[in-house]
This record gives sequence, C-alpha cells and structure tokens, in this order.
Amino acid sequence: FVTRASAAQPLKNADQLINSVETFIFDCDGVIWKGDKLIDGVPETLDLLRSKGKRLVFVTNNSTKSRKQYGKKFETLGLNISEEEIFASSFAAAAYLKSIDFPKDKKVYVIGEDGILKELELAGFQYLGGPEDGAKKIELKPGFLMEHDKDVGAVVVGFDRYFNYYKVQYGTLCIRENPECLFIATNRDAVTHLTDAQEWAGGGSMVGAILGSTQREPQVVGKPSTFMMDYVANKFGILKSQICMVGDRLDTDILFGQNGGCKTLLVLSGVTSLSMLQSPNNTILPDFYTNKISDFLSLKAA
Ligand code: PLP
Ligand code: CA
Repeated sequence: FVTRASAAQPLKNADQLINSVETFIFDCDGVIWKGDKLIDGVPETLDLLRSKGKRLVFVTNNSTKSRKQYGKKFETLGLNISEEEIFASSFAAAAYLKSIDFPKDKKVYVIGEDGILKELELAGFQYLGGPEDGAKKIELKPGFLMEHDKDVGAVVVGFDRYFNYYKVQYGTLCIRENPECLFIATNRDAVTHLTDAQEWAGGGSMVGAILGSTQREPQVVGKPSTFMMDYVANKFGILKSQICMVGDRLDTDILFGQNGGCKTLLVLSGVTSLSMLQSPNNTILPDFYTNKISDFLSLKAA
C-alpha cells in the first residue's frame, strides 16, 4: 500500500501563489514557447507579473544557443527580456567553470553546438571541438593512433546534432588519459521535442555515450542540478523559498524547483499530461498544476 507525501493541487487561486513569492523562474520550451511558436497569453501574463513587481527569470536546458541568441529569440517573439534574465545550460557550463576557477591556460573540449562555444568564449576560456568536428572522420589504418590535445582539462557535453564517433573518441581520450579532466554535462534530458510529430533523442544521449566509454558520471550544470538555482539565487540575492519554479517537465523542472526548496507549478502546455502527473508510477509531485501560465490572468479566488 503506497501513500503519497502530498498530491499536486490544481491551481485555483493564482493571486495567492503570486503574492506568496518574489520571483518566478520559468522554464522556456513548453511554458513560454513551443519550438518557434509563442504559447498563447504569455506576453500578457509576464506583463501582469512585472506590474506586481515580480522578478522574472528564464531557465532552459537547451544548450544549442547562448544567452545572447536566446535574447534575440525572445525579441523575435515580441517579448522584452534582458539577457541578464536568461540562464541557459550553455551559459551554466561556462559559469560552472568560472565558479571552480578552471585555469585559463587549460582548454575545454566541446561536444555540442554553437551556444556552448559562444558562452565559453565570452567567459574567456580556450576551447576546441564543437560543430567543426562534426565533419571529421576516422580513417582506420593498421597502427593508427588518434592524437589529442593534452591541455584539455574539461570535456563539456550538450545536445549535438553533429555528433559522431570522432567526437566520442576525442572526448573519451581526454577523460580516460587524464583522471583530472572534468566531465561536464549541460543537461541529461532523455528525449526532447524538436518537432511535435515524435520524441527525439535529447542531450542525455550524447552524455550517455561518453559515460559509457569513460565509466565516469558527469557533473550536470542544467536542471535538475542545483547549480543554476544556487547561481540565480546568489546573483539576485533572493531566498529560494521566495521563488516559484514553473515548468512543463517533472524530472527536470519540478525536481529542479524541489531540489532548491522552491514552490513548484507544473503547466500542462508542454510534455507532461494530467495522466502522466497522476500516474501511480510518478513520484515527482509539484505543489500546483494548471494548463498554461496565462491561467494566472483568470484564476482568481472565488
Ligand atoms: N534540449 C534541446 C535540444 C531542446 O530542443 C529542448 C527543447 O526545445 C530542451 C533541451 C528543453 O528545453 P527547456 O528546458 O527550455 O524545456
Ligand atoms: Ca520545458
């Protein structure tokens, strides 16, 4: 007989939730947009929260863009969000390396897309790899030995549509031949929704390849790890009990909020349905759930 700690409540009184916190952290895909399409009612909802003096922060596990590139995406969608309010897992990788004083004379090998390279560059780190290694092939001849740069002190792995065996072997050599070399994952999302038509292998699949060959566990910097939550709370000097994390995914967003000791709101506008939330197999229960964030505009106390 299994009893659950507490059941998620349907959000009935949005004002009460809004008044109970200072900051809203919004996940992006499935909450603010779906792919390149803005979700209905988002601009009005963000305006309402700003008019009530709430701090708004945006967090995404999608490492393919830098904060600056996300700034442009928000702008294209007609949302006025500053880069300083955006925390992507690409940015988190660079911020993590800074936080541990990763030496500037060491290099980072990147398995991932442009967003990670841009953030490493901005933070002043030397890097190699990235999309340009996507075209590289290994020609196996007898006795062939693949060289690698011995100054690599960290391998950062994120979602990568140009993933190949060259990158796996390069990253593997860096980690296996140097026990001090860090293995950092931007995120471990099992699947993602590049199109609505099906599920697509997510960043966790690239991370899994390196985990498989190195038998090392990565340091994850994206959701649900506490790194970005601590970073955001420190950056703005906010108490985590004064934050509500809003997301569409249980094992990243809601867990991220819970790991930080924040209030949590699941929205059903993304990948999680009500039946998934209420499934007996699900152990991750948000404080509240609702269909979409624009319910904030209509859900008042009776
Ligand atoms: N990773 C990739 C490659 C994605 O395409 C997406 C969503 O589009 C995500 C992760 C999840 O992003 P978010 O954390 O904003 O839901
Ligand atoms: Ca999401």
